Amino acid sequence: MTRYGPDECDVLIVGGGGAGLRAAIAVAETDPTLRVAVASKVYPMRSHTVSAEGGSAGVIKSNDSIEEHIYDTISGGDWLCDQDAVEAFVNEAPKELLRMEHWGCPWSREPDGQVAVRSFGGMKNKRTWYAADKTGFHMLHTLFQTSLKYEPVKRYDEYFVTSLLVDDGRCQGVLALEMATGQLHTIAAKSVILCTGGFGKAFPFTTNANIKTGDGVALAYRAGVALKDMEFVQYHPTGLPFTGILITEATRAEGGFLLNKDDYRYLQDYNLGEPKPEPVLRTMELGPRDRLSQAFEQERLKGRTIKGPYGDYVHLDLRHLGEQHINERLPMVRELCLKYEKIDPVTECIPVRPVVHYTMGGIHTDIMGATNVAGVYAAGEAACVSINGANRLGSNSLTELLVFGARAGQAAAAYAKESPDFSPRLQALADDAAQDIEKTWIAPRSKRSKDTIAGIRKELHNQMENGAGIYRDAKSLQTARETVLELQERAQHVALQDTSYTFNTELTAAIELRNLLELSSAIIESALQRTESRGSHQRTDHPKRDDEKFMAHSLAYRTEYGTAPRIEYAPVTITRWPPKERVYG
Ligand SMILES: Cc1cc2nc3c(=O)[nH]c(=O)nc-3n(C[C@H](O)[C@H](O)[C@H](O)COP(=O)(O)OP(=O)(O)OC[C@H]3O[C@@H](n4cnc5c(N)ncnc54)[C@H](O)[C@@H]3O)c2cc1C
Repeated sequence: MTRYGPDECDVLIVGGGGAGLRAAIAVAETDPTLRVAVASKVYPMRSHTVSAEGGSAGVIKSNDSIEEHIYDTISGGDWLCDQDAVEAFVNEAPKELLRMEHWGCPWSREPDGQVAVRSFGGMKNKRTWYAADKTGFHMLHTLFQTSLKYEPVKRYDEYFVTSLLVDDGRCQGVLALEMATGQLHTIAAKSVILCTGGFGKAFPFTTNANIKTGDGVALAYRAGVALKDMEFVQYHPTGLPFTGILITEATRAEGGFLLNKDDYRYLQDYNLGEPKPEPVLRTMELGPRDRLSQAFEQERLKGRTIKGPYGDYVHLDLRHLGEQHINERLPMVRELCLKYEKIDPVTECIPVRPVVHYTMGGIHTDIMGATNVAGVYAAGEAACVSINGANRLGSNSLTELLVFGARAGQAAAAYAKESPDFSPRLQALADDAAQDIEKTWIAPRSKRSKDTIAGIRKELHNQMENGAGIYRDAKSLQTARETVLELQERAQHVALQDTSYTFNTELTAAIELRNLLELSSAIIESALQRTESRGSHQRTDHPKRDDEKFMAHSLAYRTEYGTAPRIEYAPVTITRWPPKERVYG
C-alpha cells in the first residue's frame, strides 16, 4: 500500500461526532495558533450522535437543582460513578447547553418562549432539553457548522485510523487509511484525543449504527491504556424487534405505557411504583433503563411477552396521546414506525424489546480526559470518566460529549504546547504499523480459510447475547470467554475477497471485527470477575450488590492477542453521597 506523510498537527482528534467536534472547538478557542485536525472514518455529520432523539440533560428550571441532578445520576449509576466527575458534569451542563443555543441549536420552546424540558427515565425533575425528537441531529449540526468557523481545524474525512504511534512513552500521532484510495497516511500530532464512540456492535440487537465498533477504545487498549468498567453494557427497553432501531424514551416521557401480552402495565409488579394515568417521574415507565430491561426479561421468563418472528416483545402504547401530540413531539417515532414496522402509533401499539444501546465502560481517563499514556486523551462514549457508573441515565450522554469534549480539548491543547519535538523514529514507527496491517490483512488475501468476517461476527453476537446479556452467570460467561478467544484466533486467518484499494469496506470490516473481539473479551472477563449484581451487570449466581468488595472500578489491561485481559480494581471517588439502596417508585 502506498504510504504518505507525515502530515503534522498539534492536536489530532479521532472522531467527528459530538465529542470530537466539541473538543476541536475547545482546542481552537484555547489557542488559535494551534493546528487542530479531525480524522473521521465517516463524514462527521454521519456520526452516531446524529441519531440521538430524546434530548440532553442540564438543570435550567427554578424548581430543579444541581444537587438533585447529581443525586439522580449517582443513584442511577448504582453508586459506581466518580462523584467529583459527576459534580463537575452537572455544574457545567447548563452553561454548555446555553452555548449550544448561542451557536444556533434550535431547542424546542415552552409557549412563553423559554427553553422546554421533558422528563427522562430515572430523573426526579424535568431537565432534558430537546429539539423535537431529533436532538442529536440538531446538536451535531450546530457543532459542525461552528467548527467550520475556525480556520486551524483541518479535516481528514473518511480516514480510518488503524494505529496509535507511541514512542518514548508518549503518543505522537496515528496511522490512518484513506478509504477512497487505500493509501496509508502518517499524521503526526503532539496529542491525540480519541472520540470514536461506543461498541454496541459487539451485540446482535442494538440501536447502534454499524460504525460503532469501538475502534478508538481498542487503539488505546493496544497502546497500554486500561479499559474501565467494561462489564456495564446498557440495554434500552424499547427498540424495534428486528432492526433494533431505537424508540426513544421520550415516548414514555410524553405519556406512553408498556403493556405485556395481556395488555397489563406489568412494570407495577417490579418495585417501580403504582400505575397512574400519566407517567410519574422515576416510577413505572419512567424508571431507569436497567430495571426496565430486567423487568422485560422477567416477563419473558413468565411467558407474558408476545412471540414474534424476531424474538419476544411487548407493546408500547401511545394511542391515547392523540395524533396532534405525536406529530408535534414525536414526529420521528411516527416516521420510523411507518417506515420500518408498517404501523401507525396513532392507532396501533408499537412492538418493542430491550436492545443494546450504550457502553458505560471504555477508556480509563481522569476528569480532564487524560489517560495513563502521555499524549492520549479520550472523551464521549469511548471514554469512561466516569459519570455513568453501572447504568447511564438517558440524556446525560449528549451533555457528557459537550462537558468532557471541551475539557479534553483544553487539556490536550495545554499538553501539546508543552510537548517536545516529534521523535526522529516517528516515520519508522509508522512503517512498522503499516507493515503490521499489510501482514495481518493484506497478505491473507491469498490464504484460504472457511471462515468469513460475517460468520465470525455472527458467532460473536450469539455469544455476547447469550453469555453476557441482561442476565449473566459464571457458566454463561465462561462459555462466551472460551468461544471469543477461539474466534480471535480464527479471525487471524480470514481471507479477504476484495482486493481493491478503493473503499475496501471488507478490509475495514476486518479491522473492526478484530477490535470488537478484543473489546468483547474485556467485557466478558470484567463481568466474570465481578461476582455481584449492580446496575446493568446482573449475575444470577450473585444477585446482591457487594459494596465491601466491589465498590470499585474494574480496569482491564491487555495481555497478548488471543488471551484474556488482566483485571485490576481502582477505588470509586465518593465526595458527599455515601452509598445507599437504590429505590424507585
Ligand atoms: C439511536 C441512539 C439515540 C440516542 N439518543 C440519545 C439521547 O437522546 N440523549 C443522550 O444523551 N444520548 C443518546 N444516545 C447516546 C449518544 O447519542 C451517544 O453516546 C453519543 O452521541 C456518542 O457520541 P461520540 O461523539 O462519543 O461518538 P459518535 O457520535 O459515535 O462518533 C464517533 C466518531 O468516531 C469516528 N470513528 C470511529 N472509529 C474511527 C476510526 N477507526 N478512525 C477514524 N474515525 C473513527 C466516527 O467516524 C465518528 O465520527 C443515543 C444513542 C443512539 C445510538
